[in-house]
Amino acid sequence: MRTRWLSILMAVIILATTLTGCAVEVFIDTPRAPLTVHVLDVGQADSILVQTAKKSMLIDGGNRADADGIMDYLRSQGVKELDVVVATHPHTDHIGGLVDIVKDFPVAQVYMPRVAHTSKTYEDLLINIKNAGLKITPVKPGLTVELDSGIEAVFLAPARSDYDNLNNYSAVLRLGFQNTSFLFSGDAEAEAEEEMLASGFDLSSTVLKVGHHGSNTSTTSEFLAAVNPEVAVISVGADNSYGHPSEQVLKRLEEADIRVFRTDIHGVITISSDGLKLTVLTDRS
Ligand SMILES: [Zn+2]
Repeated sequence: MRTRWLSILMAVIILATTLTGCAVEVFIDTPRAPLTVHVLDVGQADSILVQTAKKSMLIDGGNRADADGIMDYLRSQGVKELDVVVATHPHTDHIGGLVDIVKDFPVAQVYMPRVAHTSKTYEDLLINIKNAGLKITPVKPGLTVELDSGIEAVFLAPARSDYDNLNNYSAVLRLGFQNTSFLFSGDAEAEAEEEMLASGFDLSSTVLKVGHHGSNTSTTSEFLAAVNPEVAVISVGADNSYGHPSEQVLKRLEEADIRVFRTDIHGVITISSDGLKLTVLTDRS
């Protein structure tokens, strides 16, 4: 039955092509939304793919062992090149996989906060970025990245260059598309959240990637109230030794009536936007 419909569909497409003389887009299943955000299941780490019709952006690359799985996932989604790679901050659970990804996958641009780290993983990443002929664009508040017409990401943090805690150097992005928006907060903690609140930037977002794997050092009540999301996503490993996500943060999200999706429970979380509404798909229910 499906084959028959498919041949009818193909016949219509061929006819349409013949009549109009131009190529017709073929959607075998549902058409791809103009914006899709994939929160990958990389355990106690972060890796997020943002896809538009024109560009692909990867925010963080999980731990070192996650590189191959992430590149397989990118290929499975038809990504041939990463136009933008954002390394939110130099901790291994965010940049680990990027070490091999910048070496083995075509990458056009790399954004990182201006902060050094002495770890081998960080040094390897810098070497591979250089060997790939790439330059690092330092992140600063107000810097924008256009992914498609009307789909733009704005960096909101880091605001300073003298934090004691590496997490507070996290590059934070707000991605907006018409009535929908996403806030990717890396591992930014209360201090950085407070500065974002004071910055005057619009923080309100339909979807919040909860900071620092749901740790209670992030997602203060004030910050959550300003973001005011409908959906929260937590990238976290099952039975991790940090006790993430914290009960306090989960309670705060629940009290604010926010739908919570977690990679340890739901696997890969895919959120599509047509500019007006969101569609959430998960690997596991
Ligand atoms: Zn982390």
